[in-house]
Amino acid sequence: MEHRAYIGVGSNQGRKEENCRRAVREIGRMPQTRLREVSTWFVTEPWGAASTEWYVNGVVAVDTGLQPATLLQRCQALEKEMGRRPGPRRWADRVIDLDILFFNDMVLEGPELTIPHPELHRRRFVLVPLCEIAPDLKHARLGSDIRELLARVEDNLRVHEVAAPQGA
Ligand code: ADP
Ligand code: MG
Repeated sequence: MEHRAYIGVGSNQGRKEENCRRAVREIGRMPQTRLREVSTWFVTEPWGAASTEWYVNGVVAVDTGLQPATLLQRCQALEKEMGRRPGPRRWADRVIDLDILFFNDMVLEGPELTIPHPELHRRRFVLVPLCEIAPDLKHARLGSDIRELLARVEDNLRVHEVAAPQGA
């Protein structure tokens, strides 16, 4: 049984875009998992007061046979493998951050996992790349699609498309 999941990818330490691209490659190598869509990369102003270091953010769509808890474990293992250390607090600087945004039209509120991701509709840096690959995707709890959520979002932190590499 295949499930459609959307995963938010972000990095604000080291070679940020390269970190994000590597994470996407590794997500595509998870068992029973195929990459379906990858957004472009955006440079985004950091959320929360914990850092002034800008992020690179994007979103991927995968089809997967993994269950949500297993997908989360795989994402956390990948974060660790890429050198992420348990931070002192939320929103601290990180080499890589992988958040499960949606899993089918599942609504789940557990101690380890909340789906849809509880903050996604408040964050422009998630909605902008998500709107590129899934504008019509409906938020199962809020009942709006991504285009509508982006039109309404109050977050005004800046989100810029990463410039194409020289010579590309
Ligand atoms: P954040 O991404 O909010 O800055 P972390 O990446 O450190 O913070 O995640 C903190 C916790 O969020 C994780 O231990 C995980 O169990 C929990 N969590 C809840 N829902 C999700 C989700 N949809 N995707 C990823 N992590 C989630
Ligand atoms: Mg996270």
